[in-house]
Amino acid sequence: MYDFIIVGGGILGMSTAMQLKQTYPERRMLLLEKEAGPAQHQTGHNSGVIHAGVYYTPGSLKARFCLEGNRATKAFCDVHDIPYDSCGKLLVATSELEMQRMAALWERTEANGLTREWLGPEALAEREPNITGLGGIFVPSSGIVDYAEITRAMAAEFERMGGEIRYDCKVTGLEERRQEVVVTTDTGEFTGHYLVTCSGLMADRVIRLLGRDPGFTICPFRGEYYRLPAKHNAIVNHLIYPIPDPSMPFLGVHLTRMIDGSVTVGPNAVLALKREGYLKRDVSLTDMARMFTNPGILKVLGKNLRPGLVEMKNSLHKRGYLELVRKYCPSLVLEDLEPYPAGVRAQAVSRDGKLVDDFLFVNTRRTLNVGNAPSPAATSAIPIGAHIVEQVKTMVEE
Ligand SMILES: Cc1cc2nc3c(=O)[nH]c(=O)nc-3n(C[C@H](O)[C@H](O)[C@H](O)COP(=O)(O)OP(=O)(O)OC[C@H]3O[C@@H](n4cnc5c(N)ncnc54)[C@H](O)[C@@H]3O)c2cc1C
Repeated sequence: MYDFIIVGGGILGMSTAMQLKQTYPERRMLLLEKEAGPAQHQTGHNSGVIHAGVYYTPGSLKARFCLEGNRATKAFCDVHDIPYDSCGKLLVATSELEMQRMAALWERTEANGLTREWLGPEALAEREPNITGLGGIFVPSSGIVDYAEITRAMAAEFERMGGEIRYDCKVTGLEERRQEVVVTTDTGEFTGHYLVTCSGLMADRVIRLLGRDPGFTICPFRGEYYRLPAKHNAIVNHLIYPIPDPSMPFLGVHLTRMIDGSVTVGPNAVLALKREGYLKRDVSLTDMARMFTNPGILKVLGKNLRPGLVEMKNSLHKRGYLELVRKYCPSLVLEDLEPYPAGVRAQAVSRDGKLVDDFLFVNTRRTLNVGNAPSPAATSAIPIGAHIVEQVKTMVEE
């Protein structure tokens, strides 16, 4: 019998497990992960940006946890000797419309408590000679890191304190009883007093195993990248982002300096036909059937048909993708876009057809479940874990 069982070996599961063990060192804890190691899904396939918290609605969990997470991530890296680079981020406006949107973002960054700098065209050219734009906002606290490395360090901490991890162990059934939760897996059955699930792309399905209707469905959006050849490793000094359309803030490919010294372009956002489908050809008939009969997802697809088709076209035609980045980095040519592995985002869609914007948790008497944790959840992993631990404490005391 365990005191706590945690499902999911991504950054949220590991952060929660580590902080639970720090809070309750004497309690028995087990983390279950269906893959052979940690960080095999979203956590190991992302842009590696330590976000500052530019876009998020002031007062939202995203805005709060991202700001706290930015500091906490860097502090964790300092303690565990994990390399990161506070290289800063530049949001670049390339048209009059984007200049207006940039002014609105300036206000938002103020409301979100960020230090930032308004750049005119000369200051922009001085900071980034290879970037063209009418103006920009520079946010110094954004940085880069390898989130898989952070997750491995969290796993090591959890195990060092006596926590148990079982990889290659897929949860297939959950039963919440009066005094315990029974977890059935493909390698055996485990019982715990409390359960926390952080199951990313499978969040809704894992909550359904409890016999609960989560109230949302996960819609998988693949984010495809290219990498620039090594000769372009110094093409930018900061992370370069376009000014997003406020109605679709997650669209807009960026130039990202990676912690290994390379520079990636991306990601776009294309509907994935398989939840853990990293290749264009990956298709799951079950996932597709469930997606295309889900009223919420159909509504989202209907409402975003035009941008969705444009994303798909640019995914299939490299030249279209190139034009997105040439808007602000005109020296790049087609040969500069080299292959790089994609990631798949887990985005919750509500029954009435809305993309759930904020982080979302679904709790029962003995279980705590992360429902929606898209970007910036890697940046926010430490405060999200702390938030879960606070909720667990309340459950334990009741
Ligand atoms: C393309 C892309 C770019 C991104 N860029 C950034 C960025 O730059 N900065 C940032 O802060 N965030 C970014 N994000 C978001 C960030 O990566 C995620 O929000 C974060 O990794 C979520 O962590 P997680 O632990 O919830 O999910 P995951 O890392 O997906 O982990 C969930 C785990 O649960 C396991 N699991 C699921 N079902 C079961 C089961 N039944 N039994 C056992 N195990 C199970 C899975 O195998 C998986 O390992 C990006 C995401 C993507 C996809």
